[in-house]
Amino acid sequence: MNALDYCIPTRPDITHYWLIKAFQVKRAWTRAFPDKWMHPSALLAQNLALDTVTSALEDPENSVFTSIFMPNEIFHSLGLKPLIAEAVADFIAGAHAELGFTIYAEDQGVPQTYCSFHKVLLGATMAEVFGVSPLIANCSVACDANNITFRMLANRFGVEHVYIDVPGEYDEEGCFYVAEQLREMAEAAQDIYHRPLDEKVLKEKVARSQRTLDNLTRSLRLRVGRYIKNNMGLEMQHGLCFHTLLGEPECERLSRLMIRDYLNAEPFDGVNVVWSSTTPFFCIPLQRLLDVNTDQQLIASDMCFDQVSFTGWNHTADEPYLAMAERLIRDSYNGPGIRRVDRMAEICERAQADGAVCFCHWGCKETMGVSQLMVRELESAGYPTIVIDGDGCDRGNFPGGQAATRLGAFLEMLHAKKDARDAEAFEQELEEALEGVADEMGTGDVR
Ligand code: SF4
Repeated sequence: MNALDYCIPTRPDITHYWLIKAFQVKRAWTRAFPDKWMHPSALLAQNLALDTVTSALEDPENSVFTSIFMPNEIFHSLGLKPLIAEAVADFIAGAHAELGFTIYAEDQGVPQTYCSFHKVLLGATMAEVFGVSPLIANCSVACDANNITFRMLANRFGVEHVYIDVPGEYDEEGCFYVAEQLREMAEAAQDIYHRPLDEKVLKEKVARSQRTLDNLTRSLRLRVGRYIKNNMGLEMQHGLCFHTLLGEPECERLSRLMIRDYLNAEPFDGVNVVWSSTTPFFCIPLQRLLDVNTDQQLIASDMCFDQVSFTGWNHTADEPYLAMAERLIRDSYNGPGIRRVDRMAEICERAQADGAVCFCHWGCKETMGVSQLMVRELESAGYPTIVIDGDGCDRGNFPGGQAATRLGAFLEMLHAKKDARDAEAFEQELEEALEGVADEMGTGDVR
């Protein structure tokens, strides 16, 4: 426990002050002193992530508590700032302050086994360190925590709550059902925040969202054989931008910059892994293995690719509510677990991954439930897969040493497989070259 943790129950105002100050200083610092090793797109993602969360926390009256999978174009069209549990919790963890909030939430009756992102958010709001927004809006995707936390906060603080029920499978009837709910949410938001929604602006944002996601899809193939200089924290920041800022001009710019950066990136001959779920970005033993490492890299994660469509969209921005509904129903985190597995297989194939990691974050029953299916299906598709249990938010609950030993052994195995594949490819190339020379010389064999 640190001094700030002791202030949580007695002086939430002091905790609030120092946390906001820490986020503001970090935001100013990264703008003034950008890391030299980073691609321009990575710098932009970092700045956008820091700004979107800090500015929402600074201005709770113009923010909306929401879940990561909710379409946010409606809120942005109204000039509102969406704030999600994972982002608040990760920022608090980034400031090394998650422990006090976890303990506070558990003291208030939140189960120890609850998703730690939500536990930290609940601790921070129940202790009144952070104010609750006038509207809380969430959807049934993807987890029990999303279904419980937001209702609980709305009841406790007496604020408006909108819940979007999302069917597991896509069909046109379901799409109209979700679109109607989104339309009602837009009406509720206009009433609560006393401002009108301009449908033309909404359409522009939805069109931009589709272009951004299509750019993101294109970026996958461009990562092959290139050093993308990624780390676990950056991957989470990209995931945050492509959810809370989707539809905004800066987010589209980010997707374009990524394409440009990857086109110009240095070649990479190491091992590539695709990550499923959140990352324990603070875990030093895992950082040593994966972060900005020329031997192995985290090439992509499904947290950035859950919303993309590899087959195009049925609804365009001319029907903005239907387009957002389609994206939400088709999200790879919605519906049966096999959809997440299929999405991982598609990412692995496009990025030519050597293997995959399924990270079972503490309290995330969805990932736990799907993990063995993911191992079975990805391995049968040719992608060795490891399941790592840990905590992506509470560092006290995940020292990471044992996980690093397992991941290290897994990466060694991927290197050995890659070396064997390279040797085989070399032999084959050599055989073909020698046959060509023999044909040219008219001899039977030059070996
Ligand atoms: S980590 Fe799992 S349980 Fe926690 S918010 Fe995300 S999907 Fe829900």
